[in-house]
Amino acid sequence: MHDTLTNLPNRRSFTAQLEQEMAALADGEAIALLCLDLDRFKEVNDLFGHAAGDAMLRKVAENAGNVLSEGQMLARLGGDEFAIIAPGISGPDDAAMLAERVLEAFRAENARASNDGLMSTSIGIALYPRDAKDQETLISHADTALYRAKSEGRDTFRFYEHAMGLEARSRRIMEHELRHAVARNEFHLVYQPQKTLDSGELIGYEALLRWRHPERGNVSPGTFIPVAEESGAIVPIGEWVLKTACQAAAGWKSNLMIAVNVSAVQLHSMNFAQTVHRILLETGLSPHRLEIEITETALVRDMHRALATLRQLKTLGIRVAMDDFGTGYSSLSNLRAFPFDKIKIDGSFIRQVDTNEQAATIVRAVLGIGRGLGLPVLAEGVETSGELSFLAKELCQIGQGYYLGRPSPLDDLQEDGIQAEEKHSDANAA
Ligand code: C2E
Ligand code: CA
Ligand code: CA
Repeated sequence: MHDTLTNLPNRRSFTAQLEQEMAALADGEAIALLCLDLDRFKEVNDLFGHAAGDAMLRKVAENAGNVLSEGQMLARLGGDEFAIIAPGISGPDDAAMLAERVLEAFRAENARASNDGLMSTSIGIALYPRDAKDQETLISHADTALYRAKSEGRDTFRFYEHAMGLEARSRRIMEHELRHAVARNEFHLVYQPQKTLDSGELIGYEALLRWRHPERGNVSPGTFIPVAEESGAIVPIGEWVLKTACQAAAGWKSNLMIAVNVSAVQLHSMNFAQTVHRILLETGLSPHRLEIEITETALVRDMHRALATLRQLKTLGIRVAMDDFGTGYSSLSNLRAFPFDKIKIDGSFIRQVDTNEQAATIVRAVLGIGRGLGLPVLAEGVETSGELSFLAKELCQIGQGYYLGRPSPLDDLQEDGIQAEEKHSDANAA
């Protein structure tokens, strides 16, 4: 009934206790269920090792345990998930106070830690009987609130609200739909040009995924990619993207590059390098023309594995670009440790780079790093001629953005004169 690492009650004693408390609840009183999920536990494990992770879990147990009152229970449900049962409270205010005490205890622990501690948690709260009549629903609602707390900033708590339940439901529907969207032909790719900034020469395209939902119309990748990543659907979807993009590029008469976004989940999926290899063979695209774009979050999750996969890809002759540089970790050691061929500066730094001194300083610094490491730098999100001339003056080699060309469907790329000859004769014949 106990978790040996923290000595806390485990999931089994937690559910038994919750059931007991729910059955015994007095009229007019409520039970608060607080679900906790540590904000940066993976990071601690990755950066400092498992012993540090274990030590943090014990500290969590100690600090959260210390703020509990008589009759309340803290349990470890598994991994970095904890829960608190607070029976006999009078309402949400009591629950909020308890959650705030837990957060405050962690902040104080961090302040005491020598290596400015990383201990913080998100908390989701559901109340019995207000939010749910049975245990399963109560836990699921607390989880939904936890999810909200995480996405709205971490180191914070949220109460379950009815609207969240609807949202969680529509998320599950979307997960389900995404699993079938490839087979239902609902995806297509658009291609955005990447050009040299000195001469404006077209060097390649980035493939960007589009989802046309039968009822809801176009859904933004910013909305559906995270859902696909979380549910794992990104693996078959990403494979479709790679295959479709490679096929398209193999049909171009010029040797332009094709850049494809690959998410962390794909990079860490089984046999990713073999999948890419197979797609290259099937489509006949030369590996030298394929560039995969990955963000740093893909690396941090499991450095060794990411490095191994990237090396396999590099052995095939594929190029690797670091996407969205400047956001997230922007770790210089990652730039050195991983075999990148290009740095893409995130569009948020390019916006108004010609008028905003701070953005300009950051962009100049990244360009300097690129020069020093011998890596070409691509500026994303170039929208104005002012931004373009600033970048050209600072010797940024490559750009991408609405000013240089919008993402467009394959058929519209013909104006660039890159579609294969057969395509033209087909069109002529038609
Ligand atoms: P990203 O890889 O950073 O892609 C660039 C995004 O910036 C694209 O948005 C593009 O349409 C947009 N963009 C290009 N030029 C400009 C500009 O001048 N101004 C502004 N404001 N935006 C510009 P999109 O297509 O909505 O994609 C958003 C994100 O979704 C991508 O960001 C990428 O992270 C993800 N994504 C898109 N397609 C795929 C895919 O096939 N696989 C995976 N894993 N992720 C994808
Ligand atoms: Ca990208
Ligand atoms: Ca990007």
